[in-house]
Amino acid sequence: MEFLPIFFDIKDKPCLVAGGGDVAERKVRSLRRAGGRVRIVAPELTPELAQLRDEGKVDHLDKAFDATDLENTVLAIAATDNPEVNRQIAGLARARNIPVNVVDQPDLCSFVMPSVIDRSPVIVAVSTGGASPVLARLMRARLESLIPAGYGRLAELCRRYRDRVKDRFKTMEQRRRFWDDILQGGVAERIFTGHQEDADAAMEQALSKEHDSSMGEVYLVGAGPGDPDLLTFRALRLMQQADVVVYDRLVAKPILEMTRQDAQRIYVGKERNHHAMRQEEINALLARLAKEGKRVLRLKGGDPFIFGRGGEEIDTLAAEGVPFQVVPGITAAAGCAAYSGIPLTHRDYAQSVTFVTGHLKDGSMNLNWQQLAQPHQTVVFYMGLVGLPVIVRELQAHGVPADMPVALVEQGTTQQQRVYTGTLSNIGDIVKEKQPKPPTLIIVGEVVQLHEKLAWYEAPDRSEQGATSPVEPGTEA
Ligand code: SAH
Repeated sequence: MEFLPIFFDIKDKPCLVAGGGDVAERKVRSLRRAGGRVRIVAPELTPELAQLRDEGKVDHLDKAFDATDLENTVLAIAATDNPEVNRQIAGLARARNIPVNVVDQPDLCSFVMPSVIDRSPVIVAVSTGGASPVLARLMRARLESLIPAGYGRLAELCRRYRDRVKDRFKTMEQRRRFWDDILQGGVAERIFTGHQEDADAAMEQALSKEHDSSMGEVYLVGAGPGDPDLLTFRALRLMQQADVVVYDRLVAKPILEMTRQDAQRIYVGKERNHHAMRQEEINALLARLAKEGKRVLRLKGGDPFIFGRGGEEIDTLAAEGVPFQVVPGITAAAGCAAYSGIPLTHRDYAQSVTFVTGHLKDGSMNLNWQQLAQPHQTVVFYMGLVGLPVIVRELQAHGVPADMPVALVEQGTTQQQRVYTGTLSNIGDIVKEKQPKPPTLIIVGEVVQLHEKLAWYEAPDRSEQGATSPVEPGTEA
């Protein structure tokens, strides 16, 4: 190890920064965040530093650095734009045993400043020993996505209960197991979702009971349209902590693979016309699993509240007193639009967008066609492949011109994405010829014309002729 990582208390202590440029500004920000009393020595300041000076938040010595500036300081940062001056500062500071950091010259530093993930009181610091600040920043970004924003509040809760947990559990092993449960279950989730009082109540309950018979919880999570990169941080975290995963056909396989390896997986179907499980059975299953004390991940394609029956599933949970949370996902319309270069609204073409279901019931769709046929809007049909002839017929019957552009996005955002464009008059023939595989989304409106110019995503599996799709053929989901 080239450096000893330590956390240095500089609260209300004098810290010297030589230099008043952008780099100095960044360092000043870090020092101030840790409560340091900053003194800047520099003939010129950036506007932000000048403002801090004017507000009395930093001291400013309006001059070039000299050795006396190092008097009465607990650390020094050399950030002038002159490497010779920086070297001189480093030498003087070292001679006085003052920790010194020199920007861009790791060999002159007696300490380096890490990239920081701040969830105070939790702090994660990443350093490459000055080898590559860019790499440190990249690692920081990765860690940011893994560490929930609420970790600071969680740490505060741990601090408050620490002594009581110590009294309650005599062995280290017992305490470790207890905290493991708390930090990866209901208490932590309540903290993250802002339910401080519920978290305390759950904590009291956990401390008071002899055996673990606790209530589990349900995470209703939107998995997005297919590309795993489109998951939210929260979705990923819950996917990796759930004990049971309840999923259906629309969830892309690579996403399912990202759930905890040893979690139980339950497939509940949802293919058109042959549901593996009825909706009421799914609702009951979720409640039952949670009551067994399990952390249940109900993973849904897209967003759970957009044509996902998510509302029904949590309705049952709410009625039965099972704790749950809902995590939004990127809905198919947003995902397919972005990945096919079709902006759903556009100043010149569409002032509104409507999401409708094109699901056929008894051969028809109960939709307000009059409204859907209005100009200057985009209409997105979910579940519309089978009913496409009805969509085409009704829109035209209500006045939409036959040359209105239409796009059909097949397996949007996945490695197998394909986009077909045409008009109301020929999209039916295109579909007959190309036989797209589900899931597919239909976008109707002038904005579809923009696809030609704005398409940017090239599905890897579709870039060669004759590539085969790993998704088995089926009917529209
Ligand atoms: N809750 C989901 C929608 C469920 S309804 C969401 O918010 O996206 C199922 C329909 O969504 C499919 O019939 C199809 O029209 C659409 N869909 C879902 N994923 C899709 C994808 N990757 N590409 C195209 N359409 C998709």
